[in-house]
Amino acid sequence: MRIDSLRFENFRNLINGGINPCDTINVFYGDNAQGKTNLLEAIWLFCGGHSFRNNKENELIKFGEDFYKLELDFYSRDRDQKAQIVFENGKRRIKINGIDRNRSSYLTEIFSAIVFFPDHLDLIKNNPGIRRNFLDTAICQQKIKYAVSLAQYKKILNQRNALLKDAYNHSELKSTVAVWNDILASSGAVIIKERLEYIKKLKEKARIHHYGISDNTEKLSIHYLSKIKADESFDENRIRDLFYDLLCESLDDDIRYGYTNIGPHRDDLLINVNGKSAKTYCSQGQQRSAVLSLKLSEAQLLYEKNDEKPVILLDDVLSELDSKRQDYLLNRIDGYQVFVTCCEESNKKQLKKGKLFYINNGEIKE
Ligand code: ATP
Ligand code: MG
Repeated sequence: MRIDSLRFENFRNLINGGINPCDTINVFYGDNAQGKTNLLEAIWLFCGGHSFRNNKENELIKFGEDFYKLELDFYSRDRDQKAQIVFENGKRRIKINGIDRNRSSYLTEIFSAIVFFPDHLDLIKNNPGIRRNFLDTAICQQKIKYAVSLAQYKKILNQRNALLKDAYNHSELKSTVAVWNDILASSGAVIIKERLEYIKKLKEKARIHHYGISDNTEKLSIHYLSKIKADESFDENRIRDLFYDLLCESLDDDIRYGYTNIGPHRDDLLINVNGKSAKTYCSQGQQRSAVLSLKLSEAQLLYEKNDEKPVILLDDVLSELDSKRQDYLLNRIDGYQVFVTCCEESNKKQLKKGKLFYINNGEIKE
């Protein structure tokens, strides 16, 4: 995957125009509030989803205007391609190679990127839901069917939870809840199996990246934390049986709490550096490096899946990293087209190849 040009009209504070990036590293530097993140956001939208800042889409339109338009020329799946996104009157219109394609999934099929945004540090710092979400989103990019399995599991879980609440006051419903154990265990086993398989691949790559970023001083390890004690060698039936037994054992507790306490919706990802919890013991720079290692590994796994390297978008990634770590990021992500934003012009000294852009008040200059 390679972006040859991006043009924008009425997109946030960016002055109407465009950029022609190089196929290695593109660094965008400038003071705060000049439009650096806005630019990465524009690229990210071509993946077909929402902004990584979770804004409402009409907030992306430049103040005082009533539409935005983005155009991307890129190389993917062995050919030059064009994509256009126009947002107007509350609706997104997409054109791919000149043809109207109004489902975002068409974009997902031909363009992919991974993004690091400072909020992603929550992956280490915050609650397990964010880590589960990271895993689930990454797996969905690999296997579209996984999203269906997840939705199914959530639906069954909600039904069981509703019944648990009723069973608290109506003990005769206890045997009905038991029926749901079976369905929930089968559905949950699919989720756990997929997550274990993804983590198996992810952890090996993340360990190598983290070694690289930390100049071979830190060992990153990742473990799936679950009350259902399974590993990637277990097949789905074996995981299902384990989950089912635990659901039966915890039925009385679940009725008391009115909630299912065991299952993939409660699981977590343990991220350790040199054997110690990254959340509890790591410095800011180490935490940032760990998240970056995970993101770069996610990119590699996407590449293995699609035979196409995703574009890498790194927003404000260099702060809090020492020069060795910055050097790894700027110069050693081979073969990927990378877009990095930073405030310091001094970072350009470290750039051994690539292109530098200066952003000032929405204007981008090479
Ligand atoms: P920092 O280094 O602080 O992260 P940045 O260069 O990444 O800064 P951006 O987040 O890209 O800055 O935002 C730049 C400016 O864009 C902000 O000052 C914001 O007010 C402005 N902005 C955001 N949305 C719009 C919009 N819809 N129309 C016009 N300007 C907008
Ligand atoms: Mg920014």
